[in-house]
Amino acid sequence: MAVGKTFVVEKLCPVCEQMTRVVKTRSRIAVVSRDEDACTHYADFNPYYYTVWVCEHCGFAADETTFTTKIPDRHLQILRAILLTKNIKIPFAEERTLGNAETAFLLGLKFLDIIHGKASKKAKYAHQLAWIYREAGDKVQEAEFMAKAAKFYEEALAKEHFPIGAMTDNATIYLIAAIYYRIGERQKATSYLSRLISDPSVREREPRILDKARDLWSDIRAGRRK
Ligand SMILES: [Zn+2]
Repeated sequence: MAVGKTFVVEKLCPVCEQMTRVVKTRSRIAVVSRDEDACTHYADFNPYYYTVWVCEHCGFAADETTFTTKIPDRHLQILRAILLTKNIKIPFAEERTLGNAETAFLLGLKFLDIIHGKASKKAKYAHQLAWIYREAGDKVQEAEFMAKAAKFYEEALAKEHFPIGAMTDNATIYLIAAIYYRIGERQKATSYLSRLISDPSVREREPRILDKARDLWSDIRAGRRK
């Protein structure tokens, strides 16, 4: 399914310091549709399968940013103490199955837990893993990881400094609302949306988010549910 949409590169694993093969996705892939919680659907391909890289030698798993940015020494010490003594072998998969992608995300989340990593990063992994389950039609697992993503985004909102990359605090509030909406928590969804709708600075600075918040609000009011 992935022919021509991915390519293999070699990267230095920050934990074991060996070169490992990883798969990157090409940036121009045709978008089919986008869900209200930002899950994007592409024709015959799911780039989220490749978000989390896994070192084929030591099993370290993280997204490209983490893999290629300096990891603090105190975190490396913890990760090396675990990974370099355990001989975890995760075979390289140029074309990932659902199971390969799931393993990558779960390992990524596990390592973030171990180093007490950022909630915003945990939210990203949990949310994208939920999207993978959505595409696969696994509603139980999707709901479980959507709920986790919402909790992690809430924690990030409370503890981290925004913007994080391109992600503003208002965009995060909207995402939390969209997640709660999709898992049927209308009350929570509307309470987050009202924060956006009642804040005049959102209208000034991020009118697109205000529009999206109003659309979702009227969907909820009309009783339209996923
Ligand atoms: Zn490694």
